[in-house]
Amino acid sequence: MASGDFPGRPEFFPGAKPSQNGIAILQSLAMVARGAFTTGVPRLENLLPMGTLHHATVHHTGFPERFLTDDFAATATHLLEIQTLHCDPAGRNWAEIGYHYAVDRMGRIWQLRDLRFQGAHVKNHNAHNAGIVVLGNFDLQTPTTQQTTALTALLNFIRDAFHPITVATHRELADTPTSCPGTYLQMFIDQHFRASNKEFA
Ligand SMILES: [Zn+2]
Repeated sequence: MASGDFPGRPEFFPGAKPSQNGIAILQSLAMVARGAFTTGVPRLENLLPMGTLHHATVHHTGFPERFLTDDFAATATHLLEIQTLHCDPAGRNWAEIGYHYAVDRMGRIWQLRDLRFQGAHVKNHNAHNAGIVVLGNFDLQTPTTQQTTALTALLNFIRDAFHPITVATHRELADTPTSCPGTYLQMFIDQHFRASNKEFA
């Protein structure tokens, strides 16, 4: 099946070639378009092309306070704050928010950076690597059931549609130590994705 020919929301996953099973997973995802949280225009000329996707890396936001917002509008505001942190010329001055997707506490999946371009989420390891941030500090709180269900579906869709894909967490790839994605989310990934990596990679 050619890229973009599948039903559902292909604009969220450019280059995807899902199987029938992948299409079924995609149809279960509660996707939110980038325009729901920002009108900021990414500086595409400053982004590197992704090329073939080989990895998906899981992060948390990891702010000092627990993130407990379920509300759609408040979640959009939170994502806009993160984008501002990443893109402010006086700050990191990145061309676009660093991650490709966010998973909120209600299991909605927000499109952030266009997957056709490399992210800015694991220094020196952004090539061929999709960045997924789960909203919360999982050293301080546990992910909601909706979050882990949506994250699992998103990772399963990416593994199906961009096969072969290895699932990793930020701390597993980072050149400098980080607790990201937090103790409780790392535990979830260890339990649900470590054993299956070989099968899918
Ligand atoms: Zn991270």
